[in-house]
Amino acid sequence: MSPLELGNPELLKNCSFINGEWLQGESQFKVINPANSQVVAAVDEVSPTQLEMAIQTASKALLEWQEKTVDERASLLSKWFELIMTNQSDLAYIMTAEQGKPRKEALGEVAYGAKYIEWYAEEARRINGDVLPVNQNGRRALVLRRPVGVVTSITPWNFPGAMILRKAAPALAAGCTFVVKPSEQTPLSALALAYLANEAGIPAGVFSVIVGSNAQPIGEVLTTHPKVAKFSFTGSTAVGKKLLAQCASTVKKTSMELGGNAPLMVFDDADIDVAVNGTMGSKFRNAGQTCVCANRIFVHSKIHDEFVQKLKSRVMELKVGEGNQEGVSVGPLIEEKAVAKVERLIASAINSGARLELGGRRDPAGELFFQPTILTGITPQMDIFNSEIFGPVAAIIPFENEEEVINLANQTEYGLCSYAFTSNMNRVFRLSEKLDFGMVGINEGVLSNPAAPFGGVKESGMGREGGRWGIDDYLENKYVCIGNLD
Ligand code: NAP
Repeated sequence: MSPLELGNPELLKNCSFINGEWLQGESQFKVINPANSQVVAAVDEVSPTQLEMAIQTASKALLEWQEKTVDERASLLSKWFELIMTNQSDLAYIMTAEQGKPRKEALGEVAYGAKYIEWYAEEARRINGDVLPVNQNGRRALVLRRPVGVVTSITPWNFPGAMILRKAAPALAAGCTFVVKPSEQTPLSALALAYLANEAGIPAGVFSVIVGSNAQPIGEVLTTHPKVAKFSFTGSTAVGKKLLAQCASTVKKTSMELGGNAPLMVFDDADIDVAVNGTMGSKFRNAGQTCVCANRIFVHSKIHDEFVQKLKSRVMELKVGEGNQEGVSVGPLIEEKAVAKVERLIASAINSGARLELGGRRDPAGELFFQPTILTGITPQMDIFNSEIFGPVAAIIPFENEEEVINLANQTEYGLCSYAFTSNMNRVFRLSEKLDFGMVGINEGVLSNPAAPFGGVKESGMGREGGRWGIDDYLENKYVCIGNLD
């Protein structure tokens, strides 16, 4: 059935991986290549019994995983990292087939996700506790940092590998066990990662992947099961809110990586070429389907026309097509609904007075392909200003001064990522402090890094992925008081 030819065909799995075993189901769902609508694989639905088994066995595996020395855990994680990198090429083929992103980006995502495993394999050695000075003789106070326990997770289709590894790497390094449900649209990358975790020797029950097309009932179990200590989600704010409410019934710890509406500001003192480069990286990566995509591009009126001209000539160089074709830099959108949404936002903006500078239509490359598009004259009243576009559309808004643009940038319920291009050092500090976003990129369009805390404020979520902050999300601080010492 699969048109995928891999160097290592073992990587292509079609059922859930639970407690170290591949468990077949009674019915199947199809994974479709968005570039050509072909079936990449038919995948078995997880059953309710298997789902229960995934959580029970993750709970049982906790003791064995936590009894491993830190060296043993770190070395298993390092082995997993190495195997992912050895299989980088095949993993990227799988990712492009199910998600559509260009091969270069898929290779990049595999390496980026793997880097989190490498980073947290080292961080496992630095989970230090504290000994506190107390004001009574004969007493000592300790703080132990202990793994929270079983972690469940739900992840989206736009980064089918990295969104899992950004969670699983710190969770496993902390001594937790992990059960993830990837999007039904992109389960194959997750299953390939499970295959490699098993090959690396990570014990049964420590990393399980459940696959199914009925997210709601699966999510219900993952967010309410009493044996689950923590739930970590990446996806839309609307779904995140529902899952957060479900988690309340058993007071689970939660991490939420939700939607964004990133402002990108270009000031009149910016290096325009640097700003255009940054805009290209932030806006058009993954065909505009990233949570940190520049959604509202504010350009100072003095340099507006020059910026638009330069951006236009760079956008015209983008090649739209199937991700494995030579030179392709923009793949398809994930589904028809996504293309229709982009069309609707563009039409409504133009109706309200926006000007179409480039693109604006479906691309002849195929049903789900959309032309890279530039719109100018966007205003805060337009839908496109207030919605996550999730497509290759640069929406440009002119501005006159810093105070005005900071207010406009913060005029959203989201608070994930923001960008500014300027050469004024005083302004850099003002922006870093005044922008209500979890991340601020200065003269840079792509920020993410395993050492840094990725995450949002306001309705973009809570918790951080990456760096020492990322492992805190999987640890409890346990206070131990020892009294009556001599
Ligand atoms: P989504 O619709 O919220 O889906 C995300 C995941 O939730 C998928 O696995 C989906 O399963 C599952 N899901 C949907 N409805 C559910 C329900 N009622 N109960 C349980 N699970 C449910 O989001 P998406 O469209 O896939 O992803 C795009 C969104 O993710 C954007 O808003 C983007 O900004 C955000 N995102 C945020 C970050 C970040 O780090 N902050 C990173 C990447 C993406 P199925 O797909 O199987 O239906």
